[in-house]
Amino acid sequence: METVASNPDAPYGVAILGGGPAGLSAGLQLVRANRRIAILDSNRPRHSATLQSHGFLTRDGASPLELRRLGREEFEEYPTARFAQSMVREVAPLTRDEALSVGFPDGIGFRVRATGIRGSADVELVARRVLLAAGLTEELPALPMIRAYYGTALHSCVECDGFEKTDKPLALIGETNDLFARALLISRFSSDLIVFTNGAETVRPDQEQQLASIGIRVERRIIDDIVGERADMTGVRLADGEIIPRVGGFVRPRWHAPVEFLGDLEITRDSWGLVVVDERGETSIRGVYAAGDIVPPGPQQLIIAAGNGARVAARLNMDMIRGALGVGQVDE
Ligand SMILES: Cc1cc2nc3c(=O)[nH]c(=O)nc-3n(C[C@H](O)[C@H](O)[C@H](O)COP(=O)(O)OP(=O)(O)OC[C@H]3O[C@@H](n4cnc5c(N)ncnc54)[C@H](O)[C@@H]3O)c2cc1C
Repeated sequence: METVASNPDAPYGVAILGGGPAGLSAGLQLVRANRRIAILDSNRPRHSATLQSHGFLTRDGASPLELRRLGREEFEEYPTARFAQSMVREVAPLTRDEALSVGFPDGIGFRVRATGIRGSADVELVARRVLLAAGLTEELPALPMIRAYYGTALHSCVECDGFEKTDKPLALIGETNDLFARALLISRFSSDLIVFTNGAETVRPDQEQQLASIGIRVERRIIDDIVGERADMTGVRLADGEIIPRVGGFVRPRWHAPVEFLGDLEITRDSWGLVVVDERGETSIRGVYAAGDIVPPGPQQLIIAAGNGARVAARLNMDMIRGALGVGQVDE
């Protein structure tokens, strides 16, 4: 049997869109399954605002960029791996005849076009399957200085950065209706917590009472901005001019799945805009899978994204084996 290792011109098994922990981990599993794999990555991870990442077993405290570098190196050790620094612009399904003619045995395939970045060449390739691992774009509450403190004083992932905030005077800022649950989680780290809703009615009166019973205040006035001295956050300034001293805390962004490259291709999303997948990680588009922060419940942690990427890779591999034999996805 001809394998991808013996035929370097074999078409790609999977095009992975996004080279964060989800995409890199899936890529590693798939090259180790003797698949020819392309990872296309625009190198704009959501966590680029931060210098240290926490909670990744064996790498607690490492820089997230270092994690990506190590992951890319491991992936590129394999002869069937290709990593391209590029921004994916278009994903289009091949017709059944086109897919069969390039050697995709189940008549499913995709053409992917990407623009090279930082001097890299543009990319155009065909692949049997596509894995969306493009993470999320996030929209922070519209406060002029919030970005300056995001990733240092203000974070979004409580599990990732709560420990470092232990016993500090904290703010939780957000406009979504999960603020109550987030406040409960943060109360594990500090009892000096104020929840800022920025004028949104997102914490119910009964929830406010429950929070008050553990010493957490809800501040419903409109926020003007975050204030600080040099790199240090010192407080939250309200629209009426009052400054409430806070040294940091958590913000709840709104998240969007960046899948503009699908163009007119319809893909099912949930009410948050995240890409819905079945239990195998396949989206509503046959042959297109998704893993990592881009799928519900949304942003979690590096190790969870990496684990999810590995899990979906195993399903993708089996889908391609079964597809080549025409034996369906599951045994009856
Ligand atoms: C400020 C901050 C701090 C964090 N700290 C921690 C922490 O301490 N510990 C922890 O476990 N987690 C932390 N996280 C969460 C963690 O970063 C994410 O859960 C994880 O990175 C998700 O991995 P992913 O592979 O799904 O997506 P990402 O890591 O976001 O990677 C997605 C990749 O896809 C690329 N991409 C997007 N669109 C395209 C396109 N069109 N074409 C090509 N490439 C594209 C992006 O450039 C990016 O490189 C933090 C997050 C933030 C925002």
